[in-house]
Amino acid sequence: VLEACGLGRSYHGKPVVIDVDLAVPAGQTVAVLGPSGAGKSTMLRCLAGLEPIQSGSVAFQGDTLAKPGTKPRSFAGRIGMVFQQFNLFPHLTALENITLAPRRVRGTGREKAEADAFALLERVGLPEHRNHYPYELSGGQQQRVAIARALAMRPELMLFDEPTSALDPEFTREVLAVMRNLAEEGMTIVTVTHEMEFARRTADRVVFMVDGRIVEDGNAEAVFTRPTNERTKQFLQQIL
Ligand code: ATP
Ligand code: MG
Repeated sequence: VLEACGLGRSYHGKPVVIDVDLAVPAGQTVAVLGPSGAGKSTMLRCLAGLEPIQSGSVAFQGDTLAKPGTKPRSFAGRIGMVFQQFNLFPHLTALENITLAPRRVRGTGREKAEADAFALLERVGLPEHRNHYPYELSGGQQQRVAIARALAMRPELMLFDEPTSALDPEFTREVLAVMRNLAEEGMTIVTVTHEMEFARRTADRVVFMVDGRIVEDGNAEAVFTRPTNERTKQFLQQIL
């Protein structure tokens, strides 16, 4: 579904993502781990087509998404992105947040868009909150609406950047449960996360990033129990 080759991104001449190769097949769930400042968010934004890149390439479903010297191509909703801060539209209800893009971008009719949105709210466990505004929802509920909003565009790939880092543990659990369901339904997922349980149990693959590079890439079991990189070992010792 997604293929980054030799991906490089720098800010003001300082490389932040260096020579990243990452091919994600359909249905795979990839957890990206690594210390603060490693370039995880930057890499994810490059994969989403939200940042220009300086070297290498990114392809999505066989089409070029990004290459050096051009603006990245937007795949309007086919890649869903969920951020640490939920970024819901504050003046719209949960339902309206979800129907906005399908109606505006896809031209879906109101009734159909609302029926789809309601089904998505049921899927993330919030059918009774459809008329609530973001300020009337907990952080975990807002994040689940944000996930439903991304899903409303029927993405083929979901990118998450620390979706639970701003949440209390009780709300973290419900968001992770929604992500686990998505993974089990076969969605292709790349998520930056500090949730080791999620990485271990749900992710098919764990990628560890340090100083802009991928230094470890394998199934969770291998990365957690037999890390080859010194920084990975240190990082795992600190958190496990
Ligand atoms: P964290 O775990 O703290 O979220 P991260 O791994 O996501 O960290 P990034 O946010 O990708 O790291 O940042 C990697 C490096 O790039 C950092 O040194 C950061 O200061 C720098 N950086 C990120 N965004 C910009 C920007 N817009 N302009 C300049 N430098 C940036
Ligand atoms: Mg980050």
